Amino acid sequence: MNILAIGAHPDDIEYGCAGTLARYASQGHKVFVATATNGNIGSAHHTMEEIAAIRKAEAKASAALIGAEYICLDYDDEMFFEDRAARLKFIDLVRYCRADVILTHNPEDYNPDHELTSKIINDIAVMIPIAHLKTPNPPYEVIPKIFYFETAHGLRFIPTDYVDITDFMDVKLKMLGTHRSQIQWMSDNFQENDAGGDKFFENASIIARFRGMQSGVKYAEGFIRALDAFRVTTTRVLP
Ligand SMILES: [Zn+2]
Repeated sequence: MNILAIGAHPDDIEYGCAGTLARYASQGHKVFVATATNGNIGSAHHTMEEIAAIRKAEAKASAALIGAEYICLDYDDEMFFEDRAARLKFIDLVRYCRADVILTHNPEDYNPDHELTSKIINDIAVMIPIAHLKTPNPPYEVIPKIFYFETAHGLRFIPTDYVDITDFMDVKLKMLGTHRSQIQWMSDNFQENDAGGDKFFENASIIARFRGMQSGVKYAEGFIRALDAFRVTTTRVLP
């Protein structure tokens, strides 16, 4: 299968579903990692152009750890709004990846970029095969299955599905660790870090252990399956 994970910002994917992506990749599935924005407000020390370039390089390095391709839709961080062009850009992204499964944000989360990314993905899923909706990449005859990954800090999130990532927890943390600029950013702005970034990693470990406890393994990632028409299946498509 082809798997597309799309988050709003570089590092969202790593928190939400990097272990699951590593597991998909290990099983031979083709994995794409995308972000709607380029994260260009995520630094108090660099210009917006500089930090966008840094964060895209970090996301690319993270994806490369599991042999995945990284794609950035290059919207401005925190200034991402839906219009006709955005809808078509998202359709084209899914068509480029020929995704069978899409992992994205929960419809309700703490950040408007997260929620809009989730909304557009859910909105366009049924439009992928429609020929009259023209994009550079051609339509294909699949309506991708959608799963929502963990909200920030796991708030208001009760998973319907779990993936055992015990053997991939080290990869998840390594992928997270490529986002060096965000360790600084969290430290500067949210008191979430000491200088070594321990809490940056600790947050991810706590959630993975918590979901692991719920599902009877050491580490897990939790997902909520989208139950809208045409997304439902009788077969398990998570790894
Ligand atoms: Zn984010």
